Amino acid sequence: MQRYFRTFSFLTSAPTLKECPEDTGFEVAFAGRSNAGKSSAINTLTDNKKLARTSKTPGRTQLINFFSNNRDTSRRLVDLPGYGYAKVDMTTKLKWQKHLNQYLERRQSLRGLVLLMDSRQPFTDFDTMLINWSNQSQMPIHILLTKADKLGPNQARNQFFKAQNHLKAFPHASIQLFSALKKSGLEEVEDKLLKWLEIEA
Ligand code: GDP
Repeated sequence: MQRYFRTFSFLTSAPTLKECPEDTGFEVAFAGRSNAGKSSAINTLTDNKKLARTSKTPGRTQLINFFSNNRDTSRRLVDLPGYGYAKVDMTTKLKWQKHLNQYLERRQSLRGLVLLMDSRQPFTDFDTMLINWSNQSQMPIHILLTKADKLGPNQARNQFFKAQNHLKAFPHASIQLFSALKKSGLEEVEDKLLKWLEIEA
């Protein structure tokens, strides 16, 4: 079942909660500050170099993007709008936040969140906000410390233990190191997603 997500392709995009696919089945949503490595992680999981690029084409950055096996759309991966694009104005930022909040608060099929944090700069304001939200709403959150290959092994381990310590007060949070470039940590995140999506191993 390790190759489960390799059959996934682009399903649809939605500008608001209303336009999302029918709220049945199971979803896992990916979130992170822009440039944290979200697209690379989704591309690595699905083994599709171009998949999450769809969400980066101009005009699509504000959309919620859905990926699934087109023959069985009951299990979905969701690419949430990136956060922290330098060029957008405040009104646009607030609009995104509203749609993101509505998705998080109301989506029944949401089973867990994957938060991407650059292993060299974890816990930005956005990260902390999302971790707090998941804690309050008891939504499981799995954190990927991305671009781990940019750190030496000792540094990576240090960052991991520091971050894990930081999360002690959050029983619904788990964390791991990840590198899309080296494909390290891939099995661990796949196992987590399969569990959340209730796919038999
Ligand atoms: P997003 O904005 O969160 O979707 O981030 P991207 O996936 O587009 O990645 C942002 C930048 O980081 C790109 O230049 C990627 O090539 C780079 N990047 C992403 N993942 C890794 C990784 O595992 N290792 C290294 N060295 N670079 C990465």
